[in-house]
Amino acid sequence: MEFCKTLAVTLKRVDYSNTSQIATFYTLNYGKLQALARGSKRMGKKAPGSIDLFSYNEIIFLKKEPGSLHLLTEWELLEDFPAFRKEIERFYSACYAVDLLNKLIDEGETDKPLFHLLLDTLHSLSRDNNKDLSLLAFELQLLKHLGYLPGLGECTQCGKKFPRNSGAVLSPFQRGLVCKTCSGHSEVGARHAVPLQLSPSALSTANFLAGCKLSALNRLHVPQKVREELKRLSTEYLSQIWGRPVGAWR
Ligand SMILES: [Zn+2]
Repeated sequence: MEFCKTLAVTLKRVDYSNTSQIATFYTLNYGKLQALARGSKRMGKKAPGSIDLFSYNEIIFLKKEPGSLHLLTEWELLEDFPAFRKEIERFYSACYAVDLLNKLIDEGETDKPLFHLLLDTLHSLSRDNNKDLSLLAFELQLLKHLGYLPGLGECTQCGKKFPRNSGAVLSPFQRGLVCKTCSGHSEVGARHAVPLQLSPSALSTANFLAGCKLSALNRLHVPQKVREELKRLSTEYLSQIWGRPVGAWR
């Protein structure tokens, strides 16, 4: 057993007893982990302090065997994102972001770029006016990083680059976007349960969001129609990954 120190964002916490909680963190150095926080619900001067959802902390924990619950020994709050408690929409956006990451990631794999993506997203959701674009960028970048997002630049059937101003079609059965020509061909087109047409500007915006810095989004103007297309694209991808509709949860 060893003591480990790392930066951590709280993804989830559940009560363990009257005074303690089990917290799920996404950490810089150890990926996702669960730890028992003794006394985290205690009140009073000598109490160690609560562990809030979405909070950014420096933690020290006693590392246990793989699969066992680690023991949190110290935690210091670095940032608690008060905007999430003042505006319900920001709160739900942040809930969704941490929940999505929690659902897609297994414990124990270190991934520093992903940690920074999560932290940048929380900053953007707490501060920027383009909350839905921040969330879309987070979803697309998360899916891309984890290898779930097929190319947004070329057809998954014929491999050709999407012509300028042509858009694309989402093919659920081919796990990716196809060009207009391929979508018109027998099998791919015919088997579409719900064909999702993506306009040229939705396609180029998706490409931009999948690779941009989240701080650039505040100045980006995207028409509502394009935002709706991108929400459908993201929902379709996530439904494919889970094998069931995720519309309501999203
Ligand atoms: Zn094609």
